[in-house]
Amino acid sequence: MLIAGNWKMHKGPAEAGAFCRALREADLGTVDVVVCPPDVSLGAAVQALAGTEIGVAAQNVHWAAEGPFTGEVSAPMLRELGVYGTIVGHSERRQHFGETDETVALRLAAALEHGLQVIACVGETEAEREAGETQAVLARQVGAIAAAIGDTDGLVLAYEPVWAIGTGRTATPAIAQEAHAFVKTILDVPVLYGGSVKPENAGELAAEQDVDGALVGGASLDLSSFAAICRAASPSSRS
Ligand code: PEP
Repeated sequence: MLIAGNWKMHKGPAEAGAFCRALREADLGTVDVVVCPPDVSLGAAVQALAGTEIGVAAQNVHWAAEGPFTGEVSAPMLRELGVYGTIVGHSERRQHFGETDETVALRLAAALEHGLQVIACVGETEAEREAGETQAVLARQVGAIAAAIGDTDGLVLAYEPVWAIGTGRTATPAIAQEAHAFVKTILDVPVLYGGSVKPENAGELAAEQDVDGALVGGASLDLSSFAAICRAASPSSRS
């Protein structure tokens, strides 16, 4: 069970360092934990979490090792910083920054090649769900990922229905389970659920057979709610 906190564009280096120092001392149950700070705060997080099992991942990565790509960061640069992995294909990147299935595939293939763990995000919009296109969208997105990789080592998917991200509307455990089971018919890797996960719903989502963890946005910014999600999702607290 993996719980990853996506901080999005929150917490500069000072705040990130302080948060991570407090995270070291928190009761996080028995799950694997990863935090995903903005690039400028990755170094502070890596330093503050040194010697712990808590991983630090980026929120995106470029496919080239270096080159004329203003504003981008490469996998070798992240590795040099001690970063363990990266998110790719978050719906906010797809919606606001022109990310496509093709660019997601390029980013993820390069990240895996350079030894980063990858959380690759997929999920349908509300309009697509209402039009009955959820499985077609997931098949297209996950298919593009599957086509880009040699093997699945280091890869985790995150099913993040766009209508549930930052909206307070969480998918029901049954909706999540159905989507996760479908995704695994295309690519058999662990699948995290993302979309308004909170301490109150983390346990019931994590209890579903094909839910292997959570990608948490808003609720990961607050230490007590993030720690409560980790504890609620811990297999020990659900048995
Ligand atoms: C996310 O950003 O990946 C996310 C799931 O956000 P939230 O938990 O705020 O819905």
